[in-house]
Amino acid sequence: MENTKEKETHSFQTEVGRLLDIVASSLYSNREIFLRELISNASDACDKLRHAALTSPSLVEGDQQFSIELSIDPKMKTLTVSDNGIGMNHDDLIETLGTIAKSGTKAFLEQLGGDKEKNVDLIGQFGVGFYSAFMVADQVDVITRRAGEKEAWLWSSDGKGSFTIEPAARKERGTTVTLHMKKDAKEFLEEARIRHIVRTYSDHIGFPVRLGEGTLNEASAIWTRNPKDISAEQYTEFYHHTAHAFDEPWLTIHNRVEGVISYTNLLFVPGMQPFDLFEPERKSHVKLYVNRVFITEDAKGLLPTFLRFLRGVVDSEDLSLNVSREMLQSDPKLAKIRTSLTKKVLTELKKKAEKDPEAYAAFWKNFGAVLKEGLIEEAGLRDRILPICRFNSTADDALTSLADYVSRMKEGQEAIYYIAGEDKQKLVHSPHLEGFRGKGVEVLLLSDPVDEFWIQHVPEFEGKPLKSVTRGSVDLDTIKSDEQKPEEKKGETNGAVTDLIGLLKAELGDAVKDVRKSARLTESPVCLIADEGEMDANLERLLRRHGQLQASAPKILEINADHGLIVSLAKHASDKSGSAEEAIKDAAHLLLEQARIADGEAPSDPVEFNRRLNRVMALALE
Ligand code: ADP
Ligand code: MG
Repeated sequence: MENTKEKETHSFQTEVGRLLDIVASSLYSNREIFLRELISNASDACDKLRHAALTSPSLVEGDQQFSIELSIDPKMKTLTVSDNGIGMNHDDLIETLGTIAKSGTKAFLEQLGGDKEKNVDLIGQFGVGFYSAFMVADQVDVITRRAGEKEAWLWSSDGKGSFTIEPAARKERGTTVTLHMKKDAKEFLEEARIRHIVRTYSDHIGFPVRLGEGTLNEASAIWTRNPKDISAEQYTEFYHHTAHAFDEPWLTIHNRVEGVISYTNLLFVPGMQPFDLFEPERKSHVKLYVNRVFITEDAKGLLPTFLRFLRGVVDSEDLSLNVSREMLQSDPKLAKIRTSLTKKVLTELKKKAEKDPEAYAAFWKNFGAVLKEGLIEEAGLRDRILPICRFNSTADDALTSLADYVSRMKEGQEAIYYIAGEDKQKLVHSPHLEGFRGKGVEVLLLSDPVDEFWIQHVPEFEGKPLKSVTRGSVDLDTIKSDEQKPEEKKGETNGAVTDLIGLLKAELGDAVKDVRKSARLTESPVCLIADEGEMDANLERLLRRHGQLQASAPKILEINADHGLIVSLAKHASDKSGSAEEAIKDAAHLLLEQARIADGEAPSDPVEFNRRLNRVMALALE
């Protein structure tokens, strides 16, 4: 069929334009990576077609041998990368080679600033896929034909704001990318140089990469090889390719499992947080292969969502090639793989945590909050997840495990104490910790939002209950103190304090659930406590933010009977003069509001708060 459509000119999406400016103007010492990017795309295209052919075998009729061919034309000064993968049609071209869909590239652009050298560094870290071709070429032509379609297209651009698309001729499906090399990029027209680059960056590619007669790479899927024969660099290159990532993997887990169900896994824990880690979809990114045929990138059911930071490949010959993705999800064989993979990963993490706590701390910083989701969603795995969880605590700056916390518990201490809030720094200064600090009792500082939720599913560890210091009563008297403090004079003001408590209760009414003497305060006059079994301020705040809670419940106001201010107020509790009564009323509200402020809340009535504060200040100055 003759193609009569005419040449069209399109502008790049604004972001692409910006990206191209930077790419083109960067004298980038590592620009050889453009070839890695193009070969990576060619390999992805072959994977995609092989997968599509599972359901439509006619797509690969006549040509089942996938390969990637390189060729150099010294006269024309061109380098060509050609594949017989899935190809692109007109709309694909506009969508993929005119815009940026990848979140990684978007994030890259967000980090760009005016500093050119820094930008160049960033390109190295992120890679910019197809567009990296413009680092070495001043014109790029893409001739492509989508498998199963008859029309072929030529996409062409000088990387300066626009591209053209016009009908073209191509006998077979696939894509040919031709780079017209810049004057300063002639080195990439030398065979030896190209061979070297392919071996360095693309050896792991599962399809043959050819130049002339020779095949340049190993051309067998890397995960099928013996781990002994794979270098750290090769693992890293494969990780970059398969995860579209540019950091160093923090951990590589490559092994083969033989049994009722056999499979191979090559999994990576990234060294950096992937961009979509906290997106609501919580997508998995481990690729599932069946007998080396790519099936899907986000196999539901292959791994639990709390391991969604993993990248890499799982390949099993025991799954059926012809099942749909939906059926796959409920395949009991997949569930078996999931169970065994999950255990394997948790075991490897445990080993790392024990062997190299410092390195583990880096992992924990990136992925601890995600891992803790497992405590909520995977009841059966709690016993495996809890021991590899790490926590900040008041003991020192290093992270601690629950087991280590327990080993440091004071004589007479029954519970594992924690405080949850949004900001570790603020938590450290919370009045709720004063009594614990005084006694030398360690408190865990939980500052991930997920903490409030898993803790509801984990009542205890090794028989020790987990207890919030902002909830319920606390009995610090039974805990032996480090140093024997001189017994403080107590008791003489007792009656007066009881009177004061009565007055505060009467004045505050429904604004508080109760007013009582505190066992946990040593420096601050007051704090707010949630009653046993009720929500404390932090949890209420989290729920309110997600629209799951309207009003918060009244709290218990605890007062520090040894604090100078409370002692003075107590002295006036029996004073029936009008001015003393007024002063106590103001004090009642001011105490409640200051306790709220210490919890990170705003005063419930800021205007009234100011009025009372001003009145008290004026009195003090009289
Ligand atoms: P990424 O590979 O991370 O998606 P790229 O910028 O490298 O980003 O490529 C953009 C898109 O262009 C690819 O996702 C793919 O859809 C398309 N593409 C690029 N090269 C090819 C090719 N050789 N065959 C088919 N599609 C391709
Ligand atoms: Mg790519």
